[in-house]
Amino acid sequence: MADYIYTMEIRLTPDQLKGVGLVQDVARAAGMNLYLTGGAIRDIISGFSIRDLDFTVQGNPLKLQKDFEKAGAKIAAVEEDIRTIFLSLPGNARAEVSMARTERFEKTGKPPIVMPATIHEDLRRRDFTVNAMALSLNEGSRGLLLDPFNGVADLETKTIRILHNYSFLEDPSRLIRATRFAARFHWPLEERTQARYDAAKEGKYIDHILRSSIGHEIAALAHEDDPLNVVKMLEKEGWLQILHDRWTVAKVDTNGLSALMKTRQQMVDLGYTPDAGPAVMYFLTSHFSDKDVSDIQKLIPRKDLVEAWRDIEDHAKELAKRLMGKEAATPSRTWQLLSSARPEMVLFLAVTAKQQSVEQKIKNYLTKWRQVQQKLPLPEMTELLITPQLPIYPKLAHDVFMLLLDGKLRSRTETLKYLKPFAPPPPPPPPAPRRGRAAKAAADAAAAAATAAQAAKLGPKGKKGKAVPPAPAAPAPAVAKPEPKAKPSQKSKPAPKPAKKPAPKPPKKKTKKK
Ligand code: ATP
Repeated sequence: MADYIYTMEIRLTPDQLKGVGLVQDVARAAGMNLYLTGGAIRDIISGFSIRDLDFTVQGNPLKLQKDFEKAGAKIAAVEEDIRTIFLSLPGNARAEVSMARTERFEKTGKPPIVMPATIHEDLRRRDFTVNAMALSLNEGSRGLLLDPFNGVADLETKTIRILHNYSFLEDPSRLIRATRFAARFHWPLEERTQARYDAAKEGKYIDHILRSSIGHEIAALAHEDDPLNVVKMLEKEGWLQILHDRWTVAKVDTNGLSALMKTRQQMVDLGYTPDAGPAVMYFLTSHFSDKDVSDIQKLIPRKDLVEAWRDIEDHAKELAKRLMGKEAATPSRTWQLLSSARPEMVLFLAVTAKQQSVEQKIKNYLTKWRQVQQKLPLPEMTELLITPQLPIYPKLAHDVFMLLLDGKLRSRTETLKYLKPFAPPPPPPPPAPRRGRAAKAAADAAAAAATAAQAAKLGPKGKKGKAVPPAPAAPAPAVAKPEPKAKPSQKSKPAPKPAKKPAPKPPKKKTKKK
């Protein structure tokens, strides 16, 4: 049986995994059953990147707001009618916690009647089979996958399938969702789903889409890995205009968007996790008027996304100004400034900087300067016992890197000269072997074993003539004299001047005792 908890643990980012722990602790303390649901399960199983964590609780999550805040999450938005809270978890992880519910659609174009329900009932109100799975995070059933519509099978065949014939009629936003997923995953709609989709399109069901669903679908674009492709498909299907009547691909700064996604990938490869959402929205709406942008922003439920999008240009200007000032007068200072800036701002400025010097500094930060890190003489440092186990190591490595960046250490020799005073004293020698009768007994036993091994090697006749004498017992090592302590002390201190003292001698060679 598949171990979905293990798969979850290896597929989530460390921040997302911590987020699961946080939500789990809060739900458990409140005595609410908790499930990881929807797109998160789909992406965990299928291997796609996991954009956000969708949780479902049996109970009302709105009651947990204070507990989530106490645990370190920020409340990004609340939707009272469907009892859902949107969380920003530490480290750029996004989550949504919803009440398990049923939705009864009584009138086309009107919001459904929402009732609390069990997780099983909740899965029945979902859009597609691949999104209608839940993973239990509860004691006793942790790791159990609920998959009433055989979503795993559809994941295997890469198929998008609705749960019932009225799906698009009940909620026409599912037409947009179907197109978005088809564009993202390059999966086709299952045959009957396609037929229902075509009928819904022809019947103009989309005219009944709820305003709140439009906001959700706009926000979803912000987190696509290839937003341009999705927007093109939405335009082709006629859905982009539903999101905003003047929205076309011509409103998109396609060059800016491509550069953004490329730089984002570059940063991800370097280990950063920038939230590109606000910048994606900026480029998707670049050629809109301020009024249109503001109208679109009003529809988006997550206010943190809207605020970050609104402030993005001002924050980028601020960072650009600092990058042109004294604070970034040297490569090392620039490095420090950019390392402490939010990765999303570095990302945005990398593709929008107007000043060549700013552009160049960010480019160096993301490429050339990283290669300087390779100049740390690691083998020699290991010989000097300057290894990551030393408490001073991170600071020392950082200081050397900064000096290398600024050209203050120009060669391997200079770098080693700088490092030598920090070498710790060699470790004490191992204790001398036992002497007297115990040692003799051990030596005799070793000799007997060696003789037996040799005899076995030579075969019954000992063809090679004389047996090889047994290996001598291990000699007692000469007691190494402790080296004088290296100066300066191992405590973190500002970077010292290059060493004047001769380097501490390497430990004396062990002499064999005869
Ligand atoms: P993404 O990867 O874009 O975040 P997602 O599947 O996680 O996609 P969300 O909009 O975050 O989509 O919604 C979470 C889950 O809620 C979905 O996976 C689906 O189960 C359910 N859901 C969302 N919108 C609808 C809808 N319009 N009708 C039915 N179920 C929906």
